[in-house]
Amino acid sequence: MNDAVRASASRRWAFVAMGAVALAVTGVATLGAAGRWALAYEQVAGQPAVLLDEVVGADTGPACAPDDRYVDEPPRGLRADVLAAWNRLRTAAARQGIHLCLNDGKRSARQQQQEFDDAVRRFGTAELASRYVLPPEKSMHVKGIAVDVQPYASAQWVQTHGRTAGWCRRYDNEYWHFEYDRRYISEGCPELLPSATAS
Ligand SMILES: [Zn+2]
Repeated sequence: MNDAVRASASRRWAFVAMGAVALAVTGVATLGAAGRWALAYEQVAGQPAVLLDEVVGADTGPACAPDDRYVDEPPRGLRADVLAAWNRLRTAAARQGIHLCLNDGKRSARQQQQEFDDAVRRFGTAELASRYVLPPEKSMHVKGIAVDVQPYASAQWVQTHGRTAGWCRRYDNEYWHFEYDRRYISEGCPELLPSATAS
C-alpha cells in the first residue's frame, strides 16, 4: 500500500470509528433525555468529545496584563484534562507572581488551515511555513493539548516549572509553545527539537 492509499484508508477508518462513537453518543443522549445519564460535552455547546478536531478555539482575548503586545485568550476547547492541567499551572504561576497569558490555545482544523495558509504566503513554501505552523492533521493545537504562553518571562517560568505539572516545551525555535502529557511528570520532557519539522 503506498502512503497516499494508506493515509486515505486510515482517514476512512477514523470516520468509521467516529461514526461508531457518534452512535454511542446518540445512545447516551437518548438515555440522557430520559434523565438517567449525564452527558459529557466539550466546551463548545453541543459538540461531543469525539469531534475535538472541529471544536473552535478562541481567536482572541483581552490584552495580556504584563505585556499588551499579546492577548490572553479564554482556554476554550482544550481537551478536558488539558484544561484542568492548564488551570493548575496558571494558579501555581500566579502564586509566584507570574501571569501566564494564553496567546493561543485550541484551534479547530479550519482555524489551523487558515494559519497554515497565511504562513505559506508569508514564508513562500509549505516546508518553511511548517517550521512555525503545522498543517491541521499534525498540529497539537487542533488536538487541544498545546498552548502558546506569553510574554517571554512567563514562558520561561513554564519551561522551568511546567514539567512537574505535565507541560513541556517541544521546539527550540518556539520558546512559547508547550504541550501537555501527564507522562512527562514521571518520564521527563522529550528531547527538544530544532523546530516543528525537526529541521
Ligand atoms: Zn503553539
